[in-house]
Amino acid sequence: MGEKPVVLMPEDIQRIMGKDAQKNNILAAKMVSEMIKTTLGPKGMDKMLVSPTDDIIVTNDGVTILDEMEIEHPAAKMMVEISKTQESEVGDGTTTAVMIAGKLLENAEKLLNQKLHPTIITKGYRMAAEKAQEILKDVSLRITSDDETVLKQVAMTAMTGKGAEGNKDKLSDIIVHAVKQVESQGKVNLNNIKIEKIKGDSVEETELVSGIVLDKEKTSSEMPSKVEDARIALIDFPLELKNPEIDTKISVTTPEQLQNFLNEEEKTINKLVEKVKATGANVVFCQKGVDDFAQYLFAKDGIYVCRRVPKSDMEKIAKATSGSIVSNISELDAFSLGESKIVEEVQHGDENFTHIKGCKNPKAVTILIHGGSEHVIDEIERAIKDGLGDVASSLKTKLVVPGGGAIEMELSKRLREYSQELSGREQLAVEEFASALEFIPTTLAENAGLDPIDILTELKSKHESGEKNAGLNLFNNKIENVLEGRIIEPTKIKSQALNSASEVAIMILRIDDVIAASGDKRSQGSMQSVTGGAGMPPGMMGRGI
Ligand code: ADP
Ligand code: MG
Repeated sequence: MGEKPVVLMPEDIQRIMGKDAQKNNILAAKMVSEMIKTTLGPKGMDKMLVSPTDDIIVTNDGVTILDEMEIEHPAAKMMVEISKTQESEVGDGTTTAVMIAGKLLENAEKLLNQKLHPTIITKGYRMAAEKAQEILKDVSLRITSDDETVLKQVAMTAMTGKGAEGNKDKLSDIIVHAVKQVESQGKVNLNNIKIEKIKGDSVEETELVSGIVLDKEKTSSEMPSKVEDARIALIDFPLELKNPEIDTKISVTTPEQLQNFLNEEEKTINKLVEKVKATGANVVFCQKGVDDFAQYLFAKDGIYVCRRVPKSDMEKIAKATSGSIVSNISELDAFSLGESKIVEEVQHGDENFTHIKGCKNPKAVTILIHGGSEHVIDEIERAIKDGLGDVASSLKTKLVVPGGGAIEMELSKRLREYSQELSGREQLAVEEFASALEFIPTTLAENAGLDPIDILTELKSKHESGEKNAGLNLFNNKIENVLEGRIIEPTKIKSQALNSASEVAIMILRIDDVIAASGDKRSQGSMQSVTGGAGMPPGMMGRGI
């Protein structure tokens, strides 16, 4: 009787094992980091991304680029994930995180070729990552929330080289004031900073509104366009009777019945409106619908009304004006009203907006971005968000580090010293971790057209001789104390980047078997011909940019 072959998996399962799996994954990860490294730093280049529907994005922002590329290779996708984590945790440093991960894997490949076992490498990397966090804490500078100059420099560093470069002085002022305004007890919730965009004027007109700008107009032209000393009712129940989404049927047989019915309806609306008026409100923001008749009644008394205001905006208005959102007519009273100096309808381009401004100590504010075109505005928004994220995380941890590659060089130097204390073969992995960090200063140099080897040599010797803040200042292309050059970043960027980069590198290194079901997408070749050696691993890009 002949032996039957054992079948574990269906035939169409793609499988790569051992070294091939490792090589393929490392290659894909390296390609991701190579792809975005040209955008790093103030002299980094931008990328133009074109979607299948011909939408264009011009950006320098790591996470945006990777997100738009629709990467399919599984290991490369893991790299994209870390940029997303970095974005959500800190809001900046996405390129850095991905580049370090790529370099860690590239260096691990060297060790694999020297026959070091992956578990030794991952152990060494883990030790190095832990030590790096310790060193980071040790070398960070402590700040307080009153150090506005430092915070402003942090915002400027975040925006250097971005679309916002030309206006970074003004924008960083706006960023610092916005963050400080919404800070409460050392905590900053960036959701309380609304960003509204207006196409038309120049970036120079971008402003901080001490209140909220709403993308809504007053419901009726009979209402006043401007209300001073506004007393604002925030209502989240409808000021109308029937729900327009549901068809209601009433059967009437005589004209009198119809008239009665309408009279009843008007009476009820009238009562609702009278209740609102009785509070002394002269502005109403309603999250739901407002009836024509109700609008008429409000307009008659010169009350400004916006309807269908999104919930997120209602919450921000409440925070800005110290009012409370009322969901039951019986709870509406003078105490629930918010206040602001002015509520007014303002036309920007061909759209009308409602400005609620001059709020007393608002806990939510708006940054109103102006700009000539959508592409410009979007890139300014990304830069401002980087700045906001950096200032907020500086305030949160109260720790900052010198940028321009200075912190990476110091970490690298100290990690090498640490590796000398180790005896096992993990030592080699710690050394490779240390040299991976040099990728940041060398790329900053390379992107600025400077010689990376010269720069690295000089940086190394400065750090050896104890100049721990020596970095590459790309304002003057000199190696110097970058704190004096005002290139400052929050420690959180670096600690988060190191954390996620080492985690993903370790995870990828531990994989020695890739088993892929041939789903519809993958059957186009992500996993096929993976053993084919050099070249781009299939499935690197879904869109073929
Ligand atoms: P990321 O997506 O990682 O934030 P960026 O393109 O914003 O990438 O570049 C950040 C890097 O640029 C940091 O290492 C930062 O220290 C450096 N950097 C910013 N401004 C300067 C400057 N004026 N000179 C040198 N390096 C700078
Ligand atoms: Mg940045």
